Amino acid sequence: MHYDYLIVGAGLFGATFAYEMKQAGKTCLVIDKRSHIAGNIYTEKVCDIDVHRFGAHIFHTSNKDTWDYVNRFAEFNNFVNSPIARYKDELYNLPFNMNTFSKLWGIATPAEAQEKIAEQIRELHITDPKNLEEQALSLVGTDIYEKLIKGYTEKQWGRDCKDLPSFIIRRLPVRFTYDNNYFNDRYQGIPVEGYTAMVEKMLGDTEVLLETEYKDFVARTSDTFGKTLYTGMIDEFFDYKLGNLAYRSLRFETETLIGEENFQGNAVVNYTEREVPFTRIIEHKHFAFGKQPDTVITREYPANWTPGDEPYYPVNTSETAELYTKYEAMAKEKKDVLFGGRLGQYKYFDMDKTIEAARQMAQDEL
Ligand code: UDP
Repeated sequence: MHYDYLIVGAGLFGATFAYEMKQAGKTCLVIDKRSHIAGNIYTEKVCDIDVHRFGAHIFHTSNKDTWDYVNRFAEFNNFVNSPIARYKDELYNLPFNMNTFSKLWGIATPAEAQEKIAEQIRELHITDPKNLEEQALSLVGTDIYEKLIKGYTEKQWGRDCKDLPSFIIRRLPVRFTYDNNYFNDRYQGIPVEGYTAMVEKMLGDTEVLLETEYKDFVARTSDTFGKTLYTGMIDEFFDYKLGNLAYRSLRFETETLIGEENFQGNAVVNYTEREVPFTRIIEHKHFAFGKQPDTVITREYPANWTPGDEPYYPVNTSETAELYTKYEAMAKEKKDVLFGGRLGQYKYFDMDKTIEAARQMAQDEL
């Protein structure tokens, strides 16, 4: 068989690209080494609850066109992410907002909160934040940094906040209103039927081969392909020729609690102290306002990544940026291979940005 595209990876990037190409009359074959589609947004039912197997995914975007696009493939519920942060016995609202500040300092007005933060950062003399620590301190001051950011971030990334880029913390809003919505985006929600069903719809009748490793497959197939879209790790594609990029992995410990209706009263509870080994516990039913008699919870443990482990996050530092630039140059030389997604482009993409990047790539191809 001849296909216009071989798409490696049945995650969100690959599925979006496959959909676009199919619409344009191109033929695609999708392969994935895992036993399921949807990559890390994969969901499956346990006790009638949609379980986010590889971590919580909440779709959010400010782009109306992207929102309309995903709504072609799924009906979204009206879930709004409002995580709770737990530091020892203290509970705070996230993102950092007036509820957080008032609990922390016993204050009531935005002016009081701003004064408190200003007082804390005055003596630090940070003018141009150079890393995550300086960025966090200059946004929210010492108390919040120490209780809600430092421990969480260092266990999440396995390195010191001084060695992490500041953009990571700028993902989180800081607000002087009593608004616990984690995201600033205009549109937000979770597919009522789960993400797997959404990706299934995107893939439609495109042929998908699961449990199929790219390198084994190309070595043995007699099929031919116009081009390949590779959504795996770019350094792996090139056999780590120039060295390894850094990734962060995760380990999920999922428990079904039969007969327990409500374990923590919220979808996401972050454990921000360094001593607790997991970063968060998610209680899946609350993503969908579930009323089931049982519940399913997942503890998320950050983990070192070594070859063979599942990579979840690129670790963007100045060294990895430099190495990635070299791989990117090699990729450009390979005219018949495209690289896409968090792993292919080595970028901390959210789902909306993943879809936008895949649609753009498809448009450029056509
Ligand atoms: N973060 C933090 N404390 C929290 C939650 C997040 O310090 O309670 C920081 C941490 O550095 C994390 C970053 O904010 O890596 C981004 O968090 P987000 O929730 O966007 O991460 P994701 O859900 O993508 O893992």
